[in-house]
Amino acid sequence: MFEPRSAFWDPLFNALMDPAAGVVRSAEAQVRFGFASYKGLTNTGVTDEVNPACATVTQVPYGLDNYDAINTAYTQLGTEWVQGVKWETPTGHAITRVVPDLSVDGHKEAWYRLEVGKRRLAYSLLSLRLPFESLEFEFLADAAPGAPPVLTGHAGGVITLNIAEANDAERERLRLQLHEPYRTLLGHFRHEVGHYYWERLISGSPRLQLFRVLFGDETAHYGEALQNHYWQGPPPDWQNRYVSAYASAHPWEDWAETWAHYLHMTDTLETAAACGLSLRPRRRDEPELKSSALPRDPALSMFDEVIESWFPLTYVLNNLNRGLGLPDGYPFVLSNAAIDKLRFVHETIAAAAFQQESPGTSDTAGTGNTALQGREPAKREA
Ligand SMILES: [Zn+2]
Repeated sequence: MFEPRSAFWDPLFNALMDPAAGVVRSAEAQVRFGFASYKGLTNTGVTDEVNPACATVTQVPYGLDNYDAINTAYTQLGTEWVQGVKWETPTGHAITRVVPDLSVDGHKEAWYRLEVGKRRLAYSLLSLRLPFESLEFEFLADAAPGAPPVLTGHAGGVITLNIAEANDAERERLRLQLHEPYRTLLGHFRHEVGHYYWERLISGSPRLQLFRVLFGDETAHYGEALQNHYWQGPPPDWQNRYVSAYASAHPWEDWAETWAHYLHMTDTLETAAACGLSLRPRRRDEPELKSSALPRDPALSMFDEVIESWFPLTYVLNNLNRGLGLPDGYPFVLSNAAIDKLRFVHETIAAAAFQQESPGTSDTAGTGNTALQGREPAKREA
């Protein structure tokens, strides 16, 4: 609990629980005492609490003559005590792994914005019937100046976001610095969860071979590829092959960008369908959209229906934004190659949804490359 034990745990325990002079024994007949202690979980072989799971709580309800019950629980915790393992309140170690320090100005608002994005993401994953029981999140702030910055990224099912991204001015500064037409919190969530699903749905699966045909060889050195991207920029013809400039950095980034784009599309289409939107332009050269053609459940629709509804929708979306003096809501142009990759994402999600609902069936797309199964992808990105 409190280290060093001899200076903190033992004096507190003795003052409360000493059978002769302790306050609990001497007053238990007149005062209702209770007991609660949070215990952070540990990882095997680790001498400090790094497990982000919620802390467990040991409790003895309030009551008279409670010394024996409290002594049993309290003593048991003491005998389980291990040097270096923190047993404190959840805010001490467990909770700060997943939310920022809320006593700092602006962090509460940042956390709220992050949670809004996270919930929208969760809704999309549920509506696409994607499994995400092992997904975790960390919303972290940069430590003291000079310390390594918190990098937004994904590692082994944990999505980390730097809460500075929730600050509009900071995010816009980065967007301009990185020459991006689109940078949002929701976009970050969708991109990072794409890495998670690459590991779950593509890595070591029969889909890997077709992935490589469309996205390239992901065994290319990740760190070098990112460095080259930031130094040299994207290839001049990137728009003919990728959904965004950043997608050209490495096949994993191409996949994550394409995955995020697919989620942008399906969410917006589902919203338009729910609103009953249809387009009947007066001019013949403008796109039409029948409300009945909008896919209400993209995971169960044909990809051609998704993409055919998408173009008219983006046309009206951008025109409405221009009417309000805002930048284009959809600042992208989809090449045929990018559409083929989106189709692959759609089919991957449809196959995963099918497997969720019909466990025991196997996805037979492509011919798997077992030599690369279990390969650990690089984890962090700028
Ligand atoms: Zn990425």
